Amino acid sequence: MENGKVRVGFYALTSCYGCQLQFAMMDEIIQLLDKASIECWFMVERDSDEDREVDIAFIEGSISTEEEAELVKKIREKAKIVVAVGACATQGGVQSWGNDRKLEELWKTVYGDAKVKFQPKMAEPVENYIKVDYRLYGCPPEKKDFLYALGTFLVGSWPEDIDYPVCVECRLKGYPCVLIEKGEPCLGPITRAGCDARCPGYGIACIGCRGAIGYDVAWFDSLARVFREKGLTKEEILERMRIFNAHNPRLEEMIDKIFEEGE
Ligand code: SF4
Ligand code: SF4
Ligand code: SF4
Repeated sequence: MENGKVRVGFYALTSCYGCQLQFAMMDEIIQLLDKASIECWFMVERDSDEDREVDIAFIEGSISTEEEAELVKKIREKAKIVVAVGACATQGGVQSWGNDRKLEELWKTVYGDAKVKFQPKMAEPVENYIKVDYRLYGCPPEKKDFLYALGTFLVGSWPEDIDYPVCVECRLKGYPCVLIEKGEPCLGPITRAGCDARCPGYGIACIGCRGAIGYDVAWFDSLARVFREKGLTKEEILERMRIFNAHNPRLEEMIDKIFEEGE
């Protein structure tokens, strides 16, 4: 705290900047300035400095360069609370989708022989490098999640986490089930709720942007079995489940097993 204000930092790693853009455009941010002092947030504060100490550090983006790995360690040292923001920071993001291939191969495909000043590496979630205290899920997270977390921290409390899947919200909303009624490969059963089942609400299958409710508890294998019964191939299932869960260490093994059962 400084002058009775909570010191806040918002830092970007490899990302599309969509999370911070979503929050920077909220009218409520203006009201928060009474209680918070923004020490670092280049999108909203010109006088930003990554070296300042903060009470709460929000980190957007995956760690995809050696320099970012060093930056998050510095942020951790200078912050009391670290919040990973969005699918990139919490799950490695869509940029982790290709992490079953080699970095050199991916680099060549996208950038050819281009030379850069940073040292690239395979994309990873922030918590692979530092302790993360709280997570805001989604691509981007809901505005209400950001306000809830920040507001709770500002009054000295701690926000609750959501540990149930999108299907719960989907059923409560009374949306038709796109998996059962249309045979669409909806990832709602394994994905963390909090978006009010936005995609099924539009008749679209969930692609899992809020990440699995936990790699150890989400029923990837049961859902893969249902998808197989709906006619999806092993590759199609794996590709879909990897979009936002590429760092699930057992994903490939689980899906292999499902297809061995059926052979
Ligand atoms: S989580 Fe989504 S919206 Fe946020 S930075 Fe990553 S890609 Fe962009
Ligand atoms: S549409 Fe998707 S999220 Fe909704 S109940 Fe069916 S499987 Fe679950
Ligand atoms: S329904 Fe799934 S993909 Fe759509 S916003 Fe919610 S978690 Fe993300």
